[in-house]
Amino acid sequence: MRTAIVTGGAGFIGSHLVDRLVAEGWDQVVVLDNLVTGSWENLAGHHPDRVRRIFHDVCEPWDETAWNLEGVDLVVHLASPASPVHYRRLALETMWANSRGTGHALEVARRFNARFILGSTSETYGDPLVSPQDEGYWGNVNPIGPRACYDESKRFGEALTMEYHRRYGLDVRILRFFNCYGPRMQQEDGRVVPNFIRQALTGEPLTVYGDGSQTRSFCYVSDEVEAIFQAAVRPGLAGEVFNVGNPEERTILSFAELVADLVGVPLRTVKAPLPADDPKSRCPNIQKARQLLGWEPKVPLREGLRRTIEYFRARLEASR
Ligand code: UDP
Repeated sequence: MRTAIVTGGAGFIGSHLVDRLVAEGWDQVVVLDNLVTGSWENLAGHHPDRVRRIFHDVCEPWDETAWNLEGVDLVVHLASPASPVHYRRLALETMWANSRGTGHALEVARRFNARFILGSTSETYGDPLVSPQDEGYWGNVNPIGPRACYDESKRFGEALTMEYHRRYGLDVRILRFFNCYGPRMQQEDGRVVPNFIRQALTGEPLTVYGDGSQTRSFCYVSDEVEAIFQAAVRPGLAGEVFNVGNPEERTILSFAELVADLVGVPLRTVKAPLPADDPKSRCPNIQKARQLLGWEPKVPLREGLRRTIEYFRARLEASR
């Protein structure tokens, strides 16, 4: 019997990971989520014996005895708001999810001697002064700025995870995700992918923050989940940290052009102020993931965007 706990399993990345674990034959996936940015709808279709949905805020104490867990082999901690708009709105909740929540998840992994995976972020590099970023880069983070609630709490979560590894020998792996996108992102989550797609589909101008010269690298969700899965099943990786992202970097302005082109509308943009501390560039060096996880992204941006646009188109039509 193989059991995994996925915190944030009703969210965007989490629900795709749950699908994958079930498809790979895991006997039970226990999802903890307080639905602050996720939805049970993302897990529709899974049998409740196989995918157990537990409404729980990871910041609150975990009562695993009440959950009747007999054994746990894997804990994947993904629960946290991840969009700048959400983590500003939920700044304290974000900080607690990534600190207390990470502590609770680590404790349960320790109790069951389970493998632990921390879903971390490229935001640990802040506004990076080197490009591309490799895992050895310590970052350039404003500790008191508006993004600090996310960046610094994720950094704390990484530090805590490593201390559980050092003190208790817990088998931990840390994954730093770079701008993941795909179906099940929320339309209103404020990130550039849902914003541009929704705007293009509804005939609105695309809101480009600043001059649009800032860069990002977008990784399709199935690629991201493959990296999580490899990190979950490969032996000999305790204490390792990996960048998980697509090294194809582009400016936000050229991303706007691409979205308009794929939706089939002329590009119309409207300028909006660049948010404070918005990183100027972001691009992963994925050499380490290539070597140790045998992983690299497979889905080209155009293809991933096509699938994502279809998802949003269907949602918009259903809501009309
Ligand atoms: N952005 C934009 N228009 C939007 C939303 C975001 O120009 O409607 C920019 C944002 O300033 C940032 C990039 O797109 O430079 C990616 O933003 P997102 O919120 O998706 O995530 P981030 O990478 O900043 O965490």
